[in-house]
Amino acid sequence: MENCIFCKIVRGEILNYTVFEDEKVLAFLDITPCTKGHTVVVLKEHGESLQEYEEKNLEGLFPAIQKVVRKLEEKLGVKDFTIGMNNGRLAGQLVPHMHVHIIPRYEGDTGGNIHSIVKKESDTSVADIAKLL
Ligand code: AMP
Ligand code: ZN
Repeated sequence: MENCIFCKIVRGEILNYTVFEDEKVLAFLDITPCTKGHTVVVLKEHGESLQEYEEKNLEGLFPAIQKVVRKLEEKLGVKDFTIGMNNGRLAGQLVPHMHVHIIPRYEGDTGGNIHSIVKKESDTSVADIAKLL
């Protein structure tokens, strides 16, 4: 995509600090890190959200995430991570090119866990949701 900032990074038009790269995936340091070692992983193919990608094109993404985690563990000595995506506007996605955040977790970093992101009571029971799915 012409004007997508992550596509520009993939094309080498914007500097990045690469952590890992292969044919399909690029992982680079977040320019405004939540903490030391915060890394963003993207597929080189442009897609705005997870739902947009062909299933086969997602292959290799999780192995790449694992490689980044192992590298951060080895080089920074960090063992714990929050790994996730802001997938869509309401989830806080600002860059419309799907990406996975790998955020190292440090003792006393005051961050919460994934359960702390949203607290809105469901108006439907779990059992009724299960029937819909
Ligand atoms: P979000 O779309 O909210 O999930 O997050 C986008 C992330 O991309 C933010 O954490 C930004 O700091 C990061 N970001 C934006 N531009 C760049 C860039 N040129 N290089 C590295 N990270 C970037
Ligand atoms: Zn893009």
